[in-house]
Amino acid sequence: MEDKAAGIKLLFLDVDGVLTDGRITLNEKGEEVKSFDVKDGFGLKLLMRHGIEVVIVTGRRSRVVAHRARELGIREVHQGISDKRLVCRRLIEKRGLMKSQVACVGDDLPDLAMFQESGLRITVADAAREVREEADFITSKRGGYGAVREICEWILKCRGCWPRIAFTEQSRG
Ligand SMILES: [Mg+2]
Repeated sequence: MEDKAAGIKLLFLDVDGVLTDGRITLNEKGEEVKSFDVKDGFGLKLLMRHGIEVVIVTGRRSRVVAHRARELGIREVHQGISDKRLVCRRLIEKRGLMKSQVACVGDDLPDLAMFQESGLRITVADAAREVREEADFITSKRGGYGAVREICEWILKCRGCWPRIAFTEQSRG
């Protein structure tokens, strides 16, 4: 499993229940409000800085997601996707990657489609049972509460670069 994580070049991320706790708050205008974990965001930035591309693939559509992605420097954002498998396959082919270089994180049944295209299947502690059963790695943290940070750190640790990152960031602060 550690070898698999070390070779990852592309990470597909679901949003609701992964980057958030899955709750969707609507304001009077019907606009969505979501809460993100700041540590997840920093983890993703570190991951991208180390050459791992992060792509968002979500079934819903919301401006909040586009905004958060822009903030984090995630360029590929695919919203309103009913067939996640098709999108993932297209993106993998475009990059000429092998399945073993692809990881994905999802928490619910539609994400099993992404699982089929990925060599490393990751989920969060509070994911649907069927998803947990198919996953190679389950975070100890819940979606929206540091699960993505845990994944980013794990991948970077498997690549052997976490101690150096931690040291560099500490001396910066
Ligand atoms: Mg989800």
